[in-house]
Amino acid sequence: FVIPDFQGFCKYIEEFYWRCKNNTEGKVAGYIPQLARMNPDYWGVSVVTIDGQRFSIGDTSVPFTLQSCSKPLTYAIALDQLGADLVHKYIGQEPSGRNFNELVLDYNKKPHNPMINAGAILCCSLLKTLIRHEMTLAEKFDFTMNYFKRLAGGETIGFNNAVFLSEREAADRNYALGFYMRENKCFPDKANLRECMDFYFQCCSMEANCESMSMMAATLANGGICPTTEEKVLKPDSVRDVLSLMHSCGMYDYSGQFAFKVGLPAKSGVCGALLLVVPNVMGLCIWSPPLDSLGNSCRGVQFCEVRIT
Ligand code: GLN
Repeated sequence: FVIPDFQGFCKYIEEFYWRCKNNTEGKVAGYIPQLARMNPDYWGVSVVTIDGQRFSIGDTSVPFTLQSCSKPLTYAIALDQLGADLVHKYIGQEPSGRNFNELVLDYNKKPHNPMINAGAILCCSLLKTLIRHEMTLAEKFDFTMNYFKRLAGGETIGFNNAVFLSEREAADRNYALGFYMRENKCFPDKANLRECMDFYFQCCSMEANCESMSMMAATLANGGICPTTEEKVLKPDSVRDVLSLMHSCGMYDYSGQFAFKVGLPAKSGVCGALLLVVPNVMGLCIWSPPLDSLGNSCRGVQFCEVRIT
């Protein structure tokens, strides 16, 4: 086993879990009612090792929408299908040093990286336009969801239509980013902005739970091979690039500090989830809806930063 004393290891996870439970800091995302209604007490942690050992504690089967945790996944699919050279003709690799939805591009007029909204919207446009362009939006939705499912070893992945509709209604900033990028000729030639935006909102509105998300993290930890199904879902090179950018850009404007204190690739979302990858060892999903001012889960960050005393 990759973690020989798994039970002893789980005792630590349990202890860290209880330590973070009474943290009442932060606020649940309030920009759409479906997220605002989330119970701030939800708190769950799931672990899957690359050889398939599992441990879960807390609210690990409650569904939530992926939100920004979909960004590394759509980026991974783009890399896998198009190659890094092509993807990075359109999107940079630099932390933005700004908020996740700020109206800003880099010096080359490209989105800074695929882990913030501008980059993720552009990544969705690459998926939509450059991979089998003949696919309708419906077919591309199935194609993407199927990828997410395979990353999760066939475990719970759904779609929350109410969240999708709300996201689309409350998306002034995301549309602004879309128009700003179109003005700067960021998109591939055939891109249709409305379709790309819808596709981005759909990816944000895919639904999972801590357990299935931890399996996705474990597939990333395992070089793209799902630990339970043993399917090779992604190429190792694609996974390497995803993990690099999760490491430098995955925690919004806290990414530098997170890299310094924790030193592991991670990605957070406004749903309160945090995907954490320990390469060649395990994947974790840590979920609690209340967020800090930068948009990261308060308990999630605390959990990752616990030190063994
Ligand atoms: N749906 C959200 C948005 O586009 C996702 C952002 C996030 O999770 N930080 O604003």
